Amino acid sequence: MNQAVHNDNKKVSYAMSTGSTELNVDEVMPHITFSGSEGKVWLNEQRVMLFSQAALGKFRREVLETIGLQRTKAFFLRLGYQLGMLDGELARASKANSTLLERFMIGPELHALRGMVLPEIQKLELGETGEPFHCQVRWNNSYEVEISQVELGLLDEPGCWNLVGYASGYSSTLMQKEIFFQEVSCIACGHEHCIGVGKDAKEWDNYEEIKSYYEKDPLLDELLELQTHVNALKDSLMERDTLAHVVGESKPFKNALKMVTRASDSKVSVLLLGETGVGKEVMARALHQSSDRADKPFIAVNCAAIPPDLIEAELFGVVKGAFTGANTSRPGRFERADTGTLFLDEVVELTPRAQASLLRVLQEQEFERVGDNIVRKIDVRLVAATNEDLSDAVTAGRFRSDLYYRLSAFPVRIPSLRERKDDIPLFVDFFLKKYQALYGKKVRGVSDKGLEMLRTYHWPGNIRELENVIERALILAETGGYISMDLILGPSVPALADGGHALDADGLLTSHDQQTMIKSTKDIASYMLDNELGLDDLEKTLLLKALERGNGKVSKAARLAGMTRPAFAYRLKKNGIDV
Ligand SMILES: [Zn+2]
Repeated sequence: MNQAVHNDNKKVSYAMSTGSTELNVDEVMPHITFSGSEGKVWLNEQRVMLFSQAALGKFRREVLETIGLQRTKAFFLRLGYQLGMLDGELARASKANSTLLERFMIGPELHALRGMVLPEIQKLELGETGEPFHCQVRWNNSYEVEISQVELGLLDEPGCWNLVGYASGYSSTLMQKEIFFQEVSCIACGHEHCIGVGKDAKEWDNYEEIKSYYEKDPLLDELLELQTHVNALKDSLMERDTLAHVVGESKPFKNALKMVTRASDSKVSVLLLGETGVGKEVMARALHQSSDRADKPFIAVNCAAIPPDLIEAELFGVVKGAFTGANTSRPGRFERADTGTLFLDEVVELTPRAQASLLRVLQEQEFERVGDNIVRKIDVRLVAATNEDLSDAVTAGRFRSDLYYRLSAFPVRIPSLRERKDDIPLFVDFFLKKYQALYGKKVRGVSDKGLEMLRTYHWPGNIRELENVIERALILAETGGYISMDLILGPSVPALADGGHALDADGLLTSHDQQTMIKSTKDIASYMLDNELGLDDLEKTLLLKALERGNGKVSKAARLAGMTRPAFAYRLKKNGIDV
């Protein structure tokens, strides 16, 4: 090696002329050993791997595309830094009698030995006796330049991140102080040479910026933080989601909404009436949000969903040991709704005891937890709902008349979907947006015939049923296609095959009755539309036919109709068919 060393005022400088960049690997202390039997390559004590530049290049591009430039840069800087640290340790452990300069020069040699670059030290002040460290190095044949040229094209800023990291990690470890290198010019961004400059870290004006690259990547933290944000946004979207149901242009709906909004100003208990699925909870939320309790809790309880023997504890809370299973004292929904609004859906399902307690809350604004004798005061706005005629329940002796009068002080009837058909396209649009986002699938919308069918149908299950239909149709639809009539009809239609129709060899529906040739679900749809038949007519006919063929046995009829027994029984009930 042709090298010149100068002692200049105790500063050790080292220089290599341009022509002397050939490194003598023999002089490099570490030994490379290859253990074929183990499939291992050793650089002294370090296990190393021979990694292909091409693979690394593709990897870098992928990382770049995944996490962006700044993170990728930091990633490779740190990778280089780790490698430099290991080699720094190696150099520190080299021959005891070697000078600091000799030890320092192991770094460039190892760097070359690793095949990453041919470093050419242009200027070196090690500053052994406390003077600043300074180094200028020209990186010849940088593998990172080649990677950039192949995978990334011309860069906007220097791209030998791994080399910079290596030099920083190596120098810091060897010199036992914080040293940062930066690349001041780089072939990857169009300069003539790759030049790195190393200084005591604090000597850099942009110290904090450089340092931040070497700090733990907060990607995961950031992801977690984002996750929290997303969840918060989701919640507020859910809020909007329910509020969006409140949107409607039809007159019957607007009237109901007007009533609800009017009630929200007072403290009067509101009773929401209407069929199942018309969006009573949504209305209750709308009422809550337009009231002065909007920033207070809104608690919804479906009384039918809670076992009768638990309903009291659920609503009013319980003290420990009140009954078997009451292992801790806890507040009920009323307490959680304090100062806010409590929505009691299917209020007719309340047990007589729960009805008595509810009446007391409404009259006295007080209650006791189950098993407790402490009287608690509460301020809750009550909104109740039912899809059953409460006065019938009173007549039948299932519901207290005094509670009924209390609750029905301000009744509001929510119209069924069939009473507000003009709002159907609006809902279709709304649910399509919702489920397209949920399933990550785009369609062009509902076909005109499909929309016509949706408007013709009677919607016994109301908005909820429409939502289910749209969700199912979207799942079945082709990406980028239209939601056609067949998709809206769904898989229940081929069940007709057991009636007057059969599946032919092509899987198409054919009629035994030669006068009506029904070859596909499309034909059924056309037939229905031509004859102004709604889906409910079809459903009812199907149910009755299945029952007839099943000799009046629900389970057999359900099997014939391709439904589960509960689903079939539910539809029977919904269609008012008694078995
Ligand atoms: Zn470079």
